Amino acid sequence: MAELIDGRLIAKELRAAVKAQVEVLQGYNVVPGLAVILVGDDPASEIYVRNKGRAAEKVGVAAQTIRYAADLSEAEVIAKIAELNADPAIDAILVQSPLPEHMNEQHIQEAISPEKDVDGFHPENVGKLFANRHGFFPVANTPRGVMTMLHHEHVELAGKNAVVVGRSVLVGTPMFALLQRENATVSLLHKYTPDALRHQLLRQADIIVVATGVPELIKAEDVQPGAVVIDVGINRMEDGHLVGDVDFAAVEPIAGKITPVPGGVGPMTIATLLETTVELAAQHHDVTLEAGWQNI
Ligand code: NAD
Repeated sequence: MAELIDGRLIAKELRAAVKAQVEVLQGYNVVPGLAVILVGDDPASEIYVRNKGRAAEKVGVAAQTIRYAADLSEAEVIAKIAELNADPAIDAILVQSPLPEHMNEQHIQEAISPEKDVDGFHPENVGKLFANRHGFFPVANTPRGVMTMLHHEHVELAGKNAVVVGRSVLVGTPMFALLQRENATVSLLHKYTPDALRHQLLRQADIIVVATGVPELIKAEDVQPGAVVIDVGINRMEDGHLVGDVDFAAVEPIAGKITPVPGGVGPMTIATLLETTVELAAQHHDVTLEAGWQNI
Protein backbone atom coordinates (compact mmCIF):
# COMPACT_ATOMS: atom_id res chain seq x y z
CA MET A 1 0.00 0.00 0.00
CA ALA A 2 1.25 3.46 -0.86
CA GLU A 3 2.11 5.99 1.79
CA LEU A 4 -0.47 8.80 1.72
CA ILE A 5 0.83 12.32 1.18
CA ASP A 6 -1.38 14.38 3.46
CA GLY A 7 -1.87 17.75 1.77
CA ARG A 8 -4.01 19.09 4.61
CA LEU A 9 -1.22 18.48 7.10
CA ILE A 10 1.54 19.88 4.87
CA ALA A 11 -0.61 22.95 4.08
CA LYS A 12 -1.19 23.48 7.81
CA GLU A 13 2.55 23.33 8.46
CA LEU A 14 3.19 25.72 5.57
CA ARG A 15 0.61 28.21 6.86
CA ALA A 16 2.29 28.10 10.30
CA ALA A 17 5.68 28.76 8.66
CA VAL A 18 4.18 31.64 6.67
CA LYS A 19 2.63 33.08 9.84
CA ALA A 20 6.08 33.02 11.44
CA GLN A 21 7.46 34.88 8.40
CA VAL A 22 4.69 37.47 8.76
CA GLU A 23 5.82 37.99 12.36
CA VAL A 24 9.40 38.53 11.18
CA LEU A 25 8.11 41.14 8.72
CA GLN A 26 6.12 42.86 11.47
CA GLY A 27 9.46 43.48 13.17
CA TYR A 28 10.27 45.66 10.14
CA ASN A 29 6.82 47.32 10.28
CA VAL A 30 5.75 45.45 7.16
CA VAL A 31 2.26 43.97 6.81
CA PRO A 32 1.95 41.95 3.57
CA GLY A 33 -0.99 43.15 1.48
CA LEU A 34 -2.97 41.01 -0.96
CA ALA A 35 -5.59 42.46 -3.34
CA VAL A 36 -8.06 40.07 -4.95
CA ILE A 37 -10.19 41.29 -7.85
CA LEU A 38 -13.42 39.43 -8.49
CA VAL A 39 -15.48 40.32 -11.56
CA GLY A 40 -19.02 38.93 -11.86
CA ASP A 41 -20.95 36.61 -9.57
CA ASP A 42 -19.71 33.11 -10.39
CA PRO A 43 -20.61 31.15 -7.22
CA ALA A 44 -17.47 28.95 -7.32
CA SER A 45 -15.22 32.02 -7.71
CA GLU A 46 -17.05 33.65 -4.82
CA ILE A 47 -16.14 30.66 -2.60
CA TYR A 48 -12.50 30.61 -3.75
CA VAL A 49 -12.12 34.32 -3.11
CA ARG A 50 -13.72 34.09 0.32
CA ASN A 51 -11.43 31.17 1.25
CA LYS A 52 -8.35 33.08 0.08
CA GLY A 53 -9.36 36.14 2.12
CA ARG A 54 -10.00 34.11 5.27
CA ALA A 55 -6.77 32.14 4.96
CA ALA A 56 -4.85 35.39 4.45
CA GLU A 57 -6.29 37.04 7.55
CA LYS A 58 -5.43 33.95 9.64
CA VAL A 59 -1.71 34.25 8.90
CA GLY A 60 -1.67 38.05 9.27
CA VAL A 61 -1.77 39.01 5.58
CA ALA A 62 -4.00 42.07 4.99
CA ALA A 63 -6.37 40.96 2.24
CA GLN A 64 -8.86 43.11 0.39
CA THR A 65 -11.39 41.86 -2.13
CA ILE A 66 -12.49 44.25 -4.85
CA ARG A 67 -15.79 43.17 -6.36
CA TYR A 68 -17.13 44.31 -9.71
CA ALA A 69 -20.28 43.59 -11.70
CA ALA A 70 -19.84 41.36 -14.77
CA ASP A 71 -20.52 44.24 -17.19
CA LEU A 72 -17.46 46.23 -16.09
CA SER A 73 -15.15 47.11 -18.99
CA GLU A 74 -11.68 45.62 -19.37
CA ALA A 75 -10.22 49.14 -19.27
CA GLU A 76 -11.76 49.74 -15.84
CA VAL A 77 -10.17 46.55 -14.43
CA ILE A 78 -6.82 47.57 -15.94
CA ALA A 79 -7.14 51.04 -14.40
CA LYS A 80 -7.76 49.46 -10.99
CA ILE A 81 -4.72 47.19 -11.46
CA ALA A 82 -2.59 50.25 -12.30
CA GLU A 83 -3.75 51.86 -9.07
CA LEU A 84 -2.86 48.71 -7.08
CA ASN A 85 0.51 48.46 -8.85
CA ALA A 86 1.32 51.93 -7.49
CA ASP A 87 -0.05 51.31 -3.97
CA PRO A 88 2.79 50.61 -1.50
CA ALA A 89 0.41 48.78 0.87
CA ILE A 90 -0.25 46.13 -1.79
CA ASP A 91 2.37 43.44 -2.38
CA ALA A 92 0.34 40.92 -4.33
CA ILE A 93 -2.45 41.24 -6.90
CA LEU A 94 -4.66 38.41 -8.03
CA VAL A 95 -7.49 38.49 -10.56
CA GLN A 96 -9.84 35.58 -10.03
CA SER A 97 -10.60 33.59 -13.15
CA PRO A 98 -12.75 32.97 -15.09
CA LEU A 99 -13.28 36.51 -16.29
CA PRO A 100 -16.39 37.55 -18.24
CA GLU A 101 -16.23 36.71 -21.96
CA HIS A 102 -15.68 40.32 -23.09
CA MET A 103 -12.37 40.52 -21.22
CA ASN A 104 -9.04 39.29 -22.50
CA GLU A 105 -7.30 37.34 -19.73
CA GLN A 106 -3.87 38.02 -21.25
CA HIS A 107 -4.37 41.79 -21.16
CA ILE A 108 -5.30 41.54 -17.50
CA GLN A 109 -2.36 39.28 -16.63
CA GLU A 110 0.08 41.59 -18.39
CA ALA A 111 -1.32 44.66 -16.62
CA ILE A 112 -0.24 43.31 -13.23
CA SER A 113 3.26 44.43 -12.29
CA PRO A 114 5.61 41.38 -12.43
CA GLU A 115 6.72 42.35 -8.89
CA LYS A 116 3.13 41.91 -7.61
CA ASP A 117 2.14 38.99 -9.83
CA VAL A 118 1.30 36.52 -7.05
CA ASP A 119 -0.09 33.90 -9.47
CA GLY A 120 3.10 33.91 -11.56
CA PHE A 121 1.20 34.29 -14.85
CA HIS A 122 2.98 37.40 -16.16
CA PRO A 123 5.15 36.48 -19.19
CA GLU A 124 8.17 38.07 -17.49
CA ASN A 125 7.89 35.64 -14.57
CA VAL A 126 7.08 32.69 -16.83
CA GLY A 127 10.17 33.65 -18.86
CA LYS A 128 12.36 33.68 -15.76
CA LEU A 129 11.14 30.20 -14.87
CA PHE A 130 12.00 28.86 -18.31
CA ALA A 131 15.31 30.73 -18.39
CA ASN A 132 16.24 28.94 -15.14
CA ARG A 133 16.81 32.24 -13.35
CA HIS A 134 17.95 32.01 -9.75
CA GLY A 135 16.52 33.97 -6.86
CA PHE A 136 12.92 34.57 -5.97
CA PHE A 137 10.20 35.37 -8.50
CA PRO A 138 6.58 34.25 -8.39
CA VAL A 139 5.63 30.93 -9.96
CA ALA A 140 2.12 29.48 -10.42
CA ASN A 141 1.01 28.40 -6.96
CA THR A 142 -0.43 24.95 -7.69
CA PRO A 143 2.73 23.47 -9.23
CA ARG A 144 4.81 25.31 -6.65
CA GLY A 145 2.69 23.65 -3.95
CA VAL A 146 3.36 20.26 -5.56
CA MET A 147 7.11 20.95 -5.31
CA THR A 148 6.65 21.75 -1.61
CA MET A 149 4.90 18.41 -1.13
CA LEU A 150 7.70 16.55 -2.92
CA HIS A 151 10.34 18.34 -0.81
CA HIS A 152 8.40 17.72 2.37
CA GLU A 153 8.20 14.01 1.55
CA HIS A 154 11.93 13.92 0.67
CA VAL A 155 11.20 12.64 -2.83
CA GLU A 156 14.47 12.52 -4.74
CA LEU A 157 14.17 14.34 -8.07
CA ALA A 158 17.70 14.55 -9.51
CA GLY A 159 18.24 11.89 -12.13
CA LYS A 160 14.68 10.59 -11.81
CA ASN A 161 12.18 10.00 -14.59
CA ALA A 162 9.21 12.34 -14.13
CA VAL A 163 6.07 12.41 -16.27
CA VAL A 164 3.65 15.34 -16.18
CA VAL A 165 0.25 14.69 -17.76
CA GLY A 166 -1.49 17.91 -18.87
CA ARG A 167 0.23 21.03 -20.20
CA SER A 168 -1.93 23.94 -19.03
CA VAL A 169 -0.29 27.29 -18.35
CA LEU A 170 -1.74 27.06 -14.84
CA VAL A 171 -0.36 23.66 -13.85
CA GLY A 172 1.33 21.25 -16.28
CA THR A 173 3.70 23.58 -18.12
CA PRO A 174 5.20 25.28 -15.02
CA MET A 175 5.29 21.85 -13.34
CA PHE A 176 7.49 20.64 -16.20
CA ALA A 177 9.85 23.59 -15.69
CA LEU A 178 10.02 23.20 -11.91
CA LEU A 179 10.81 19.47 -12.06
CA GLN A 180 13.49 19.81 -14.73
CA ARG A 181 15.06 22.69 -12.77
CA GLU A 182 15.71 20.15 -10.02
CA ASN A 183 17.37 17.80 -12.48
CA ALA A 184 14.58 15.33 -13.13
CA THR A 185 14.18 14.14 -16.72
CA VAL A 186 10.67 15.29 -17.55
CA SER A 187 8.15 14.29 -20.22
CA LEU A 188 5.18 16.58 -20.75
CA LEU A 189 2.10 14.74 -22.04
CA HIS A 190 -1.15 16.21 -23.32
CA LYS A 191 -4.33 15.27 -25.13
CA TYR A 192 -2.54 14.74 -28.45
CA THR A 193 -0.17 12.20 -26.88
CA PRO A 194 -1.32 8.82 -28.26
CA ASP A 195 -2.75 6.54 -25.56
CA ALA A 196 -0.12 3.86 -26.22
CA LEU A 197 2.74 6.36 -25.82
CA ARG A 198 1.15 7.75 -22.65
CA HIS A 199 0.93 4.24 -21.15
CA GLN A 200 4.51 3.47 -22.17
CA LEU A 201 5.99 6.68 -20.70
CA LEU A 202 3.93 6.44 -17.51
CA ARG A 203 5.01 2.86 -16.83
CA GLN A 204 8.66 4.00 -16.73
CA ALA A 205 8.04 6.98 -14.45
CA ASP A 206 9.46 7.40 -10.96
CA ILE A 207 7.28 10.47 -10.40
CA ILE A 208 3.89 11.12 -12.01
CA VAL A 209 2.04 14.45 -11.77
CA VAL A 210 -1.41 14.48 -13.37
CA ALA A 211 -3.44 17.63 -14.14
CA THR A 212 -5.91 16.90 -16.93
CA GLY A 213 -9.43 17.20 -15.55
CA VAL A 214 -10.13 13.70 -16.92
CA PRO A 215 -11.57 11.63 -14.06
CA GLU A 216 -9.48 8.54 -13.23
CA LEU A 217 -7.38 8.73 -16.41
CA ILE A 218 -4.41 7.04 -14.74
CA LYS A 219 -4.99 3.34 -14.18
CA ALA A 220 -3.14 0.63 -12.26
CA GLU A 221 -1.32 -0.57 -15.40
CA ASP A 222 0.12 2.95 -15.91
CA VAL A 223 2.06 2.92 -12.65
CA GLN A 224 5.22 1.02 -11.84
CA PRO A 225 5.62 -0.30 -8.28
CA GLY A 226 6.92 2.35 -5.91
CA ALA A 227 6.22 5.38 -8.14
CA VAL A 228 5.26 8.70 -6.52
CA VAL A 229 1.83 9.77 -7.83
CA ILE A 230 0.62 13.36 -7.45
CA ASP A 231 -2.98 13.96 -8.50
CA VAL A 232 -3.84 17.60 -9.17
CA GLY A 233 -7.24 16.83 -10.72
CA ILE A 234 -10.46 17.78 -8.99
CA ASN A 235 -13.55 16.43 -10.74
CA ARG A 236 -17.04 16.61 -9.29
CA MET A 237 -19.08 13.59 -10.31
CA GLU A 238 -22.85 13.58 -10.92
CA ASP A 239 -23.57 12.29 -7.41
CA GLY A 240 -21.56 15.21 -6.01
CA HIS A 241 -18.46 13.33 -4.83
CA LEU A 242 -14.96 14.39 -5.89
CA VAL A 243 -12.50 12.24 -7.78
CA GLY A 244 -9.04 12.97 -9.07
CA ASP A 245 -7.39 12.21 -12.41
CA VAL A 246 -6.00 8.99 -10.90
CA ASP A 247 -7.99 5.82 -10.26
CA PHE A 248 -7.05 6.00 -6.61
CA ALA A 249 -8.41 2.63 -5.45
CA ALA A 250 -6.54 0.77 -8.21
CA VAL A 251 -3.27 2.75 -8.05
CA GLU A 252 -2.85 3.04 -4.28
CA PRO A 253 -1.78 -0.61 -3.78
CA ILE A 254 1.01 -0.17 -6.37
CA ALA A 255 2.37 3.35 -5.85
CA GLY A 256 5.08 4.20 -3.31
CA LYS A 257 3.45 7.48 -2.31
CA ILE A 258 0.19 9.01 -3.48
CA THR A 259 -1.93 12.12 -2.88
CA PRO A 260 -5.64 11.63 -2.16
CA VAL A 261 -8.45 13.72 -3.67
CA PRO A 262 -9.69 15.62 -1.77
CA GLY A 263 -7.02 16.38 0.82
CA GLY A 264 -3.98 16.23 -1.46
CA VAL A 265 -2.80 19.02 -3.73
CA GLY A 266 -5.99 21.10 -3.24
CA PRO A 267 -5.18 22.50 0.23
CA MET A 268 -1.63 23.39 -0.87
CA THR A 269 -2.67 25.99 -3.44
CA ILE A 270 -3.99 28.66 -1.06
CA ALA A 271 -1.20 28.04 1.49
CA THR A 272 1.33 28.54 -1.33
CA LEU A 273 -0.46 31.71 -2.47
CA LEU A 274 0.10 33.11 1.03
CA GLU A 275 3.73 31.96 0.96
CA THR A 276 4.25 33.83 -2.32
CA THR A 277 2.46 36.95 -0.99
CA VAL A 278 4.77 37.09 2.01
CA GLU A 279 7.86 36.56 -0.14
CA LEU A 280 6.78 39.40 -2.45
CA ALA A 281 6.33 41.66 0.60
CA ALA A 282 9.81 40.71 1.86
CA GLN A 283 11.27 41.44 -1.58
CA HIS A 284 9.56 44.86 -1.74
CA HIS A 285 11.06 45.80 1.62
CA ASP A 286 14.49 44.18 1.18
CA VAL A 287 13.97 41.71 4.01
CA THR A 288 15.57 38.28 3.65
CA LEU A 289 13.34 35.38 4.69
CA GLU A 290 14.00 31.68 4.61
CA ALA A 291 11.67 30.00 2.07
CA GLY A 292 8.48 28.85 3.82
CA TRP A 293 8.76 25.19 2.87
CA GLN A 294 12.26 25.01 4.34
CA ASN A 295 10.69 25.68 7.71
CA ILE A 296 8.23 22.79 7.59
P1 NAD B 1 -6.88 22.47 -18.46
O1 NAD B 1 -8.20 22.02 -18.95
O2 NAD B 1 -6.45 23.89 -18.66
O3 NAD B 1 -5.74 21.54 -19.08
C1 NAD B 1 -5.89 20.16 -19.16
C2 NAD B 1 -4.67 19.57 -19.82
O4 NAD B 1 -4.84 18.15 -19.83
C3 NAD B 1 -4.46 20.00 -21.26
O5 NAD B 1 -3.10 20.34 -21.45
C4 NAD B 1 -4.81 18.77 -22.10
O6 NAD B 1 -4.02 18.65 -23.28
C5 NAD B 1 -4.51 17.65 -21.12
N1 NAD B 1 -5.32 16.45 -21.38
C6 NAD B 1 -6.66 16.35 -21.53
N2 NAD B 1 -7.01 15.07 -21.78
C7 NAD B 1 -5.87 14.35 -21.78
C8 NAD B 1 -5.58 12.97 -21.99
N3 NAD B 1 -6.54 12.09 -22.26
N4 NAD B 1 -4.30 12.57 -21.92
C9 NAD B 1 -3.30 13.46 -21.65
N5 NAD B 1 -3.53 14.78 -21.44
C10 NAD B 1 -4.79 15.21 -21.51
O7 NAD B 1 -6.87 22.07 -16.89
P2 NAD B 1 -5.99 22.61 -15.65
O8 NAD B 1 -6.38 23.99 -15.31
O9 NAD B 1 -4.56 22.26 -15.84
O10 NAD B 1 -6.60 21.65 -14.52
C11 NAD B 1 -6.46 20.24 -14.59
C12 NAD B 1 -7.16 19.63 -13.40
O11 NAD B 1 -6.54 20.09 -12.21
C13 NAD B 1 -8.64 19.99 -13.26
O12 NAD B 1 -9.31 18.86 -12.71
C14 NAD B 1 -8.63 21.12 -12.26
O13 NAD B 1 -9.83 21.20 -11.53
C15 NAD B 1 -7.51 20.72 -11.37
N6 NAD B 1 -6.83 21.85 -10.70
C16 NAD B 1 -6.62 21.72 -9.37
C17 NAD B 1 -5.97 22.73 -8.68
C18 NAD B 1 -5.72 22.56 -7.23
O14 NAD B 1 -5.58 23.53 -6.51
N7 NAD B 1 -5.63 21.34 -6.76
C19 NAD B 1 -5.54 23.88 -9.34
C20 NAD B 1 -5.73 23.96 -10.72
C21 NAD B 1 -6.38 22.93 -11.38
